[in-house]
Amino acid sequence: MSLSMAAGVRLVPAVLTSFLLFVLSATNVQAGALNVVTTTATMGMLAREIGADKVEVRVLAAPDRDPHYLDARPAFMAALRRGDMLVEMGAGLEEGWLPAALTGAANPKLNSGRPGHFSASDFLHLRRSITMDGPNLGHVHGEGNPHFQLDPRRVAAVAGPLADRLAELLPAYRREFEDRARIVRARILEHEETVAAQVEPGQRFVAYHEDIDYLEEWLPVEVAGYLEPLPGIPPTARHLRGLADTLRDGPRGVVLHAVYQPSRGADWLATEIAWSRQALPMEPPANGKLDDYLELMRIWATPFQTNE
Ligand SMILES: [Zn+2]
Repeated sequence: MSLSMAAGVRLVPAVLTSFLLFVLSATNVQAGALNVVTTTATMGMLAREIGADKVEVRVLAAPDRDPHYLDARPAFMAALRRGDMLVEMGAGLEEGWLPAALTGAANPKLNSGRPGHFSASDFLHLRRSITMDGPNLGHVHGEGNPHFQLDPRRVAAVAGPLADRLAELLPAYRREFEDRARIVRARILEHEETVAAQVEPGQRFVAYHEDIDYLEEWLPVEVAGYLEPLPGIPPTARHLRGLADTLRDGPRGVVLHAVYQPSRGADWLATEIAWSRQALPMEPPANGKLDDYLELMRIWATPFQTNE
C-alpha cells in the first residue's frame, strides 16, 4: 500500500466524524438549544439575556469563588464536552484551570480560534495592570486587568460582539440576538448613569486586588491603594504598615475586598486608619438575569453612599 493510500484510509474516519459532528450540531440548532458554557456568572447573564430561549447556559465558576483559582473539575470537563460555545472573560483570568478543563473535554468546537470560543477581553480595552510594567511585577494580569465585570460600560460593550458570535452559530436568529443586545446595552448604560449620579464625587477606597479598582472607571471615586503588594501576591505586614502610613492623614475612605478574599488584612488596615471596611459580591447569581446584574451595580456603589 502506498503512503498516499494509507493516508486516504486514515482520512475517511476523520471526515465522517466531522460530518457527524456537523449533523449533530445542526440538530441542536433546529432544536433551538445552543449549549453555551460560560466561565463566570456575568458572562452567563449576558448569554442568557441575548440568546434567550435559543441557548442553554451553564456557568462554571460559582459566583462566590475566586475565578483565578479554581480546579479543572470533571464536572467542568463534562459541561465543556457537551458545549457548542464557550464564553470566557479572557486575558488570563481563567488560565489556571480552563486550558486543563478544555484539554480534558476534548471538544474541538471550543478550541481557540473557532467560532465556538468567545473571549470577551478580545473585544475590550482592559484597564492597565502594574504586572504589565515589567518582569516579576505580580503573578497575574500580564494581559491587563481581566475583572471588567465591575465596569458596566465594558460589560455593555461585550453585548454586541456576543450577539454577533451567537448569530454566527445560529444565523436564523441574528436579528433577535442583535435586538436583545441593544436592549441589554441600553439598560446597563442607563442604570450606570443613575447609580453614578447618586455617589458624592471624590471618595477614596483601597482594594484588596486589582479588581474592584474597575469601580473607578464609572463611579466618581478614586482607588488609593491595594492590600496586595502586587497582583496575586498576598498582603504582607510591611506593605500594610506602609499603606496605613500613607493613608492615615488623608481624607477618609473605605477598604473594599471581594467576598472570597481574606478579610484579615482589610480589617487590620481599616481599624488602623479608622476607615470602614466592606466585602462585596463580585458576580450575579449563577442563574442571574439582567436585573440581578443591575442590582449588583447598585450594591457596588453602596460603600460610597453610606460614607460621610
Ligand atoms: Zn485578578
